[in-house]
Amino acid sequence: MVELKDVSVTYSSGVDALNHVSLKINDGDFAFVVGSSGAGKSTMIKLLLKEIDATEGTVIVNGYNLSHLRRRKIPELRRTIGIVFQDFRLIPSMTVYENIAFVLRVIDAPKKYIRKRVQYVIGLVGLQLKAKSYPDELSGGEKQRVAIARALVNDPKLIIADEPTGNIDPELSYEIVNLLREINACGTTILMVTHEHEMVRHFGGRIINITDGEIVYDEIIGGEDESEWSQISD
Ligand code: ADP
Repeated sequence: MVELKDVSVTYSSGVDALNHVSLKINDGDFAFVVGSSGAGKSTMIKLLLKEIDATEGTVIVNGYNLSHLRRRKIPELRRTIGIVFQDFRLIPSMTVYENIAFVLRVIDAPKKYIRKRVQYVIGLVGLQLKAKSYPDELSGGEKQRVAIARALVNDPKLIIADEPTGNIDPELSYEIVNLLREINACGTTILMVTHEHEMVRHFGGRIINITDGEIVYDEIIGGEDESEWSQISD
């Protein structure tokens, strides 16, 4: 769950990046966040990860009140969040399997569990045949699937996808959003930041528009292809 209560962020330069923003994203929700460059989207993501602090207001993420969260507890908060970046951020010298397993190795998960869990998430994103491939042997869409598997492997409550389709061909972009929706249908909350208004209109759902640091609308719209949602919920 994500809750921002009357949150403002003013950078030391004096820029007001967020201005009295309030919003709530419940467990299990899927929300698109749209807004032009400089609107405040990255600032919001940084707040949720506690990379920066709110100048005013309250931020609650997965039960943690970030204003009162001690520094040593930040890794615990971040383990409840999976992140998918526009530029994938895979480690080039590691295979698909190793890129995903790495997340569990750094937290000292048992070896047997790592093997089972990594194989499971690789299956979820449909990359069984690519487990031994290196990132430069994959298409953009496949790289993003690896990044999604890596975000999922630790079983986070929330996945933040920051422009996940920004470096992917349009046809494959729709597949990536569909994959995120399937993950959402299994219970993970998804917050997806995007520039692509046309894609958002196609899928529909909850759209939060940030402009100049303010939420100008937060509404649920019907998609152009309603059957896709109903297929998933059937
Ligand atoms: P978006 O992700 O929507 O493009 P940002 O959150 O990056 O927007 O930026 C919001 C505003 O805050 C912009 O005016 C930007 O120039 C400013 N900004 C972002 N990061 C910093 C920073 N570290 N220091 C000062 N100003 C910043």
